[in-house]
Amino acid sequence: MKTSTKSTGKTSFVPPAVSKVSVGKLKARAEAFIKQLGLDYPDLKFEPGNQEHWSPRSKTVTYNLNQPLRDLRYGVLHELAHALLEHADYSNDFELLKLETDAWDMASDIGHRYHIEIGSEHIQNCLDTYRDWLHRRSTCPSCSMHVLQKNSSSYHCFNCQTTWNVSTGRFVRPYRRKQKLSAS
Ligand SMILES: [Zn+2]
Ligand SMILES: [Zn+2]
Repeated sequence: MKTSTKSTGKTSFVPPAVSKVSVGKLKARAEAFIKQLGLDYPDLKFEPGNQEHWSPRSKTVTYNLNQPLRDLRYGVLHELAHALLEHADYSNDFELLKLETDAWDMASDIGHRYHIEIGSEHIQNCLDTYRDWLHRRSTCPSCSMHVLQKNSSSYHCFNCQTTWNVSTGRFVRPYRRKQKLSAS
């Protein structure tokens, strides 16, 4: 049996799902920010994707829309900094850490122009993931000795003579603590 509720004559106000509205608004703000960057940096392409990165070959900054607005802004500014610094390659892991640090410095400067203050804690967290990554890569799998890199794709342990190869992915390293870290 169907039950029916008699209208009270009042217009009932159904509050919209708060998260839905704010997600839509935040997405619009994120897109407006990206659009502005596209106007300010017409030589670069800005494309949505899963993993934020800078491609020197196609001059494309890839950003991830599926994250809080704050992280999206920080991330796209960071990749933009790599682009403006013309980061294309690095010869060893320590150099990558240096490039990452430089990119964050510049991202902070660019951010000021858009009234975005990148928190130093965020930057240190991101750099820490690189430091952790570097530490894992440079640790000998046989004797756990911490050694210096031999060349762009391998490490050699002076203690036990073990040599191990490492991948040479460029600026596509995950750089957040929350992301799954891999030593490869
Ligand atoms: Zn980077
Ligand atoms: Zn060793």
